[in-house]
Amino acid sequence: MVEAETTPGERAVARCDMLGEPPFSDDVGLLYRPWLGPGFIATVEAISNWMRQAGMTVRQDAAANLIGRYEGSTPDAPALLFGSHLDSVRDGGRYDGMLGVIAALEVVAGFHERSERFPFAIEIVGFGDEEGSRFPVTMLTTRAIAGVLEEDDPVAAFAELRDVDGVTVEQALARAGLTPRGMTAAKRSRNDILAYVEAHIEQGPVLEAEGLALGVVSGIAAQRRFEIRLHGMAGHAGTMAMSLRRDALTAAAEMVLAIERIGVAGGDRDGLVTTVGSLRTWPGVTNVVPGNVTFTIDARAGTLATRDRAVEEILAALKEISERRNVGIEIIPRENLNPSPCDPGLMALMETAVEDVTGQPARVLVSGAGHDAMIMARFAPIVMLFIRCEKGISHNPAEAVLSADVDATISALGRFVRLFAEDHSRTQGSQFS
Ligand SMILES: [Zn+2]
Repeated sequence: MVEAETTPGERAVARCDMLGEPPFSDDVGLLYRPWLGPGFIATVEAISNWMRQAGMTVRQDAAANLIGRYEGSTPDAPALLFGSHLDSVRDGGRYDGMLGVIAALEVVAGFHERSERFPFAIEIVGFGDEEGSRFPVTMLTTRAIAGVLEEDDPVAAFAELRDVDGVTVEQALARAGLTPRGMTAAKRSRNDILAYVEAHIEQGPVLEAEGLALGVVSGIAAQRRFEIRLHGMAGHAGTMAMSLRRDALTAAAEMVLAIERIGVAGGDRDGLVTTVGSLRTWPGVTNVVPGNVTFTIDARAGTLATRDRAVEEILAALKEISERRNVGIEIIPRENLNPSPCDPGLMALMETAVEDVTGQPARVLVSGAGHDAMIMARFAPIVMLFIRCEKGISHNPAEAVLSADVDATISALGRFVRLFAEDHSRTQGSQFS
């Protein structure tokens, strides 16, 4: 019996698995790959070698992003840019971020094997710090490429941030021969990039529930966050009569349930989700009625209108509850991020690519999680492809994908490049400018 040949999807999965352990992880027994750590540096070296084998030239930019380039039929042609992130949260999964880079690499390896060139170059970028798993800030390296670093995170605001070992961003960069201010040199010229394409595991359960390998992302959800502070009255748990209490925690409990009810009532419309992820009580002891409670609200949806309607309903419900229970309330806005829609023209090409490969109509879905594409959308037209992952589990070592799905991913991305090339020669890229 002849052993079956390894498919590109199997090779991609095997590579992600290999990169899940030391020396590519900074921890033994679990995956942790922070930006600029030893595991990150070893990973850059391994992927650089695979990129060269796939006919690419390789460099690291001023933000320590890894960039491979497969030339087009003419030198110095603008590039179709694929990418995702190389870093991983502590005790993360092997496919979050990494699979997008490794799958794109297999697409280029296929073109290289057939000596196939396009009127544009293909580049793959492995971003450095999407997760913010080392420093308390995210996507500095993505912002550097998109040219929005100074606008979002002035050097003065991030250079002195420290990791858990007390190493500053500036010190970590210095060890790689880089500087915070120098990172802005990673900015790409808008004329050099035609579009940005990111494949990523779904990190949610929709595709698996519907029996689909792939999905096309319509955009990254608009997020809004609040901190809520409730001020009741602390008192002795044994002596304070129930009728006299101003219990901040029972008020919070009612509020948390209202927030859930409003999210559920959205009926999955526009990907609306509402979450209370953190709640603290004070003084937080057994025999005292809680006087103060602080909790968070995170609301997301594919459109601003849906998200903001839900937020209005939530805040009205919270005020009603606080008045009825005679508990003071402070509402502190913490974050307000616009949605990052994918380009409709690129989405149509990706939907066709998915349909051609899977033989099924493409499922279009909102990304509730943030991605590098969110930043890149401010720089170039973007499109994202989601890959089914087991039970939707992510940021967890149990993260898993089927190699057959990764084969479908590689085929769909390859098909997308061809469709993009047809479109490019027809319009000379003007529709995506
Ligand atoms: Zn990710």
